[in-house]
Amino acid sequence: MHRAAAYVLRFLDNICRKKEGQVLERSILTSDELRRAEEALWKAAQGEMFPDEIAVLIKTQGPPEQRHQIVERSSDIYTKWPFLDERGILRSRGRIGAAPYAPTEAKFPVILPNQHLITFLIVDWFHRRYRHAHRETIFNEIRQRFEIPKLRRLLDKVVSKCTWCRIVKASPTPPAMAPLPEMRLKAFVQPFTFTGLDYFGPVLVKVVKVKMVIHRNA
Ligand SMILES: [Zn+2]
Repeated sequence: MHRAAAYVLRFLDNICRKKEGQVLERSILTSDELRRAEEALWKAAQGEMFPDEIAVLIKTQGPPEQRHQIVERSSDIYTKWPFLDERGILRSRGRIGAAPYAPTEAKFPVILPNQHLITFLIVDWFHRRYRHAHRETIFNEIRQRFEIPKLRRLLDKVVSKCTWCRIVKASPTPPAMAPLPEMRLKAFVQPFTFTGLDYFGPVLVKVVKVKMVIHRNA
């Protein structure tokens, strides 16, 4: 979906370039184009699931830190301190904005809706990128870039749909055991009334040479 979106955006750009008589872009996708496609997908998911919050945040003036108060308390993302960045992406304010060496994405992670297909595919990508690792490992990696409500529940859903995880974590069904023989169920008898031995080796064998005689019919 990521690369397909990048090609669609390039196609739209090429239409404009053609109108203006410019050279069309035909090379392999650049990192800028992929980045733009990623942002377009985030915005599409946010626009579908948080239209009211975005509408309120667009209208509201003032520093980003105070804008979240305008969002309804009943909203799923109220506690995430949402704000719109300069490119119109819904981000969480978080609490580490002053960290000097943390990347911007970690300081202001992108808010994604829990129920959207794009979010599912992103979480699924992280799950496979980190080799089907433990849920908390994937959770930690995702949280460095994204803020997703009820993320652990979504991770469980991704794992439950992953064929590789289902095969690896499956436990074999124990075979049905045969009923015990009557002698092992005797009551009110002396110990060792019945004894048994497992047959074990080494076992001496005698090799007998057999002379083969082939009879031929006359
Ligand atoms: Zn898996």
